Amino acid sequence: MDFDTPLAEAWIRAIAAAVEKEQDRLTELDSAIGDGDHGSNLRRGFSAALAALDGLQPAGPGAVLTKVGSTLISKVGGASGPLYGKAFRAIGAALPDPALSDPALPGSALPGSADPVGPATLAEALAAGLDAVRALGKAVPGDKTIVDAYTPAVAAFRAAAGAGATLPEAASAAADAADQGARDTVPLQARKGRASYLGERSIGHQDPGATSTALLFRALADVTAA
Ligand code: ADP
Ligand code: MG
Repeated sequence: MDFDTPLAEAWIRAIAAAVEKEQDRLTELDSAIGDGDHGSNLRRGFSAALAALDGLQPAGPGAVLTKVGSTLISKVGGASGPLYGKAFRAIGAALPDPALSDPALPGSALPGSADPVGPATLAEALAAGLDAVRALGKAVPGDKTIVDAYTPAVAAFRAAAGAGATLPEAASAAADAADQGARDTVPLQARKGRASYLGERSIGHQDPGATSTALLFRALADVTAA
């Protein structure tokens, strides 16, 4: 199985559905240590992303995710819009784009056929997304942010891909690692974002952004397994 255009679109639809379903939980988490808008921010962002994909004829999975990223940046205020927006743009940009394949150019593939995106390629693209989050937000693991779920997810995806796992297997390992990473934010004190204003009072709550990152990876595992 490859990560192709229909799968990229299915991933975004699954994220939109998960965010819709978990909106209240994300909002509760963000009410405890933030301003209570994380659920509605993501819901607005991913429903706008679905609308943007409607009628788009994407050249490949990279184009799907790049479009999603740009939409999140333009439609979601708050910290998470630009962070997830840059992440999806970076993931999309790291995937081979079939539109760039031109037999007239030396070294290029057959028309319309870029290298298929297998687990190893997707692992590196997801890692590029994490790099983008870290470049923009300057958070490191342990700061109680998106990075705390995203970092172990990428590590698990890479390790699985390196060991010859299939796409569903690698995505499932990444989702489990992201879930654990999100749970592990509970005892942390926030050092980035709004929750950092609370100082020690941020301790004892699960980070909303790490929680939504775990949803994104679970959605990927679900659609690849389907
Ligand atoms: P806002 O904090 O502006 O209201 P959201 O509520 O949508 O935005 O998102 C909050 C989440 O954003 C936090 O739970 C945290 O995980 C994430 N976040 C905030 N700042 C950073 C950062 N600098 N790097 C990574 N993630 C961050
Ligand atoms: Mg908020």
